[in-house]
Amino acid sequence: MPARDFFHSVMSIGPVQLGTHRDRHGRTKYAAVCTTDDCGWSADYSTQSAAQLAARTHRCKVR
Ligand SMILES: [Zn+2]
Repeated sequence: MPARDFFHSVMSIGPVQLGTHRDRHGRTKYAAVCTTDDCGWSADYSTQSAAQLAARTHRCKVR
């Protein structure tokens, strides 16, 4: 995954943090990043609602 130098966290849902960042074309992307150690899941979405849905339905593989 790309470095998230411009990641701005806006909320967290369980262990998943939601935030926005700009892609290389300057468009705002909505990222969901799991903060659980050893999970490491993250994904980008083009809408905040899609990122929220993914965060709510995320289940860590670990543990
Ligand atoms: Zn997770």
